[in-house]
Amino acid sequence: MKKILWVMFAVAIALTVAIYFKAPSRNGTINISADRLVKNIKILASDEFEGRAPGTPGEEKTTQFLKEQFKKLGLKPGNGDSYFQGVKMVEITTSPDAVMKIVSGDKVFNLKYGPEFMGWTLRVRDQVSVTDSDMVFVGYGIVAPEYGWNDYDGIDVHGKTVVMMVNDPGFATQDPKLFTGNAMTYYGRWTYKYEEAARQGAAAVIIIHETKPAAYPWAVVQGSWTGPQFNLESDDGNMSRVKVESWIPGAKMAEIFAASGLDYNKLTAEAATRDFKAVPLKAKMSVSLKNSIRHVVSKNVVAVLPGTDRLDEYIIHMAHWDHLGRNPALKGDQIFNGAADNATGAAGLIELANAYLSGAQKPRRSIMFMAVTAEEQGLLGSAYYGRHPLVPLNKTVAAINMDVLNTYGKTRDVTIIGYGNSALDDYVDRAAKQQKRSVNPDPEPEKGGFYRSDHFSLSKEGVPALYFDGGVDNIAHGRKWMLDQIADYTANRYHKPSDEYSDSWDMSGAVEDLELIYKVGLQLSLGDSFPNWRDGNEFKAKRDAMMKK
Ligand SMILES: [Zn+2]
Repeated sequence: MKKILWVMFAVAIALTVAIYFKAPSRNGTINISADRLVKNIKILASDEFEGRAPGTPGEEKTTQFLKEQFKKLGLKPGNGDSYFQGVKMVEITTSPDAVMKIVSGDKVFNLKYGPEFMGWTLRVRDQVSVTDSDMVFVGYGIVAPEYGWNDYDGIDVHGKTVVMMVNDPGFATQDPKLFTGNAMTYYGRWTYKYEEAARQGAAAVIIIHETKPAAYPWAVVQGSWTGPQFNLESDDGNMSRVKVESWIPGAKMAEIFAASGLDYNKLTAEAATRDFKAVPLKAKMSVSLKNSIRHVVSKNVVAVLPGTDRLDEYIIHMAHWDHLGRNPALKGDQIFNGAADNATGAAGLIELANAYLSGAQKPRRSIMFMAVTAEEQGLLGSAYYGRHPLVPLNKTVAAINMDVLNTYGKTRDVTIIGYGNSALDDYVDRAAKQQKRSVNPDPEPEKGGFYRSDHFSLSKEGVPALYFDGGVDNIAHGRKWMLDQIADYTANRYHKPSDEYSDSWDMSGAVEDLELIYKVGLQLSLGDSFPNWRDGNEFKAKRDAMMKK
């Protein structure tokens, strides 16, 4: 006991000294340290943390470590008296012997699981079956009031199997006046299409895979949905989802259309026009899926720095802590350390907390630091937060996400996914200008990158959000060199055991990016406005509605 007291005393002195020596930061420098960043990245990406997979001892080590760091800094627990938010997930593994049977006209198609169809259910049931369900082609399967579009207009799809295309009519036509032209909207994402079909009461969904609008080949569809799949588990066991979600390759679907006497090329082209009306196929679908099920409760780590006077309003800084764990089937290195992805972002949260705590200007609004789980399984931790927010969403000013910080040194620019969507741009512009850096929007908006990282989970619920994605115009080595480095990472280390910390990393660029993010967050916290989505954005209606409450 005495020893503990003495230790606490020593810590108190150390803290006083630390606070005293933070004084220089009050003269303008920001307390973000490359050394501390590296130290924390090395811990999070160490073999001891076992690749930080949700539901493993690696999760326990990671979430405890982050909690301790936040606590040591003096941040408050973000969930009552706890730094954790439990995230209820389910792991469903579909038996690969499934066959999808489609009777179209007088032809029978027995589609093979893997090469000819991929199907699964989010319903937490040992088995789901759909039998002789009528098939309807619903174009893009989109209901988008802000674009005056409704593919389900005038039809009842209850109990039916809806067939639809991936992406959206804007991409298909490249018409900038249709949706957002080349840039993908949320209506183009497969996740949306399954959700909308469930709202419409359909029994099953088949998305037609074409490589160009999907932005990835069939092998990715097949690979992504093979084996165990994590999802959130609602109290009713996800019974509000359609029974069966699936994909079929376009060439196979063209045969099925032809057997129903329909012209695939003609109809899929018409689907991108305003005159399109849903078309029934002369076809019925049957499939039965057997599942093995495992329940997992994982954790988001949430800490708060209360504001000085607008305490009930929040800016959220977020980064996922999880990675892919370990694969015992691998020879040699089995641990997916995820050093860049996303030990850098999680450690970045600690740096941001340091910056706010020792900055001369205290945030007026509260700052939430949230390390979310299960990003790698489909943004699950952040999606759970979006559905179960710990502070009201209409008091949440913005969410700013980090996923893979720059490890290649300073850049003249910064890329921001979500730039151009909301009035948050003004804050980014001001902060970037102070650093004499230029801002790039998403270089490939047609791939829907905006919808593939954690900030999107907040956007989807209406909260304006951004994702800072480092620059590419490297000051020391030039743009080509940096693009080569990034390409080398993507090809050789991304989602591989070799994503490890290296002494060759230059964190000066990450420090500058963190300073930029801090400046954006601080400016937001000092204001009293709620920067909104731009007119026409697909999330604006939701934001407007919640702000009226
Ligand atoms: Zn990541």
